[in-house]
Amino acid sequence: MSHVAVVDCIFCKIACGEIGSETVYEDSGVKVFKDLHPKAPVHLLVVPKEHIQSIAHLEANHNFVISKLIYTAKDVAKKSGLTGYKLVFNVGREGGQVIDHLHLHLLGGWAKLSDDSFAG
Ligand code: AMP
Ligand code: ZN
Repeated sequence: MSHVAVVDCIFCKIACGEIGSETVYEDSGVKVFKDLHPKAPVHLLVVPKEHIQSIAHLEANHNFVISKLIYTAKDVAKKSGLTGYKLVFNVGREGGQVIDHLHLHLLGGWAKLSDDSFAG
């Protein structure tokens, strides 16, 4: 599936492979990669390939995208051996969002520091 990349959007560039990332999972709709500045032993970003600015910009036709992000996070967390984790969307500058391309933070690994499979 091809996606329209937004010029100067770093996550569009990572999603299409123009900029490298430590990818742990990818399919036609989503890419999961390690956060460059991890805030937890495991800190992954689940990013749709389609450019959507934020949760505040979701439209009705994005139902599939948002459920895809959550199911992907669940599957990757299970594969990485995480039994508990946090899923976080930062929304807007006031909500801590810095990159204006929708992404779901998957944070965990506090009880499993010896598992370095996806650890940052
Ligand atoms: P947010 O504050 O929700 O917009 O989160 C953006 C996240 O992207 C931050 O946790 C950054 O550390 C992370 N980040 C920024 N640039 C990159 C990159 N090139 N590769 C991986 N993660 C990145
Ligand atoms: Zn983008």
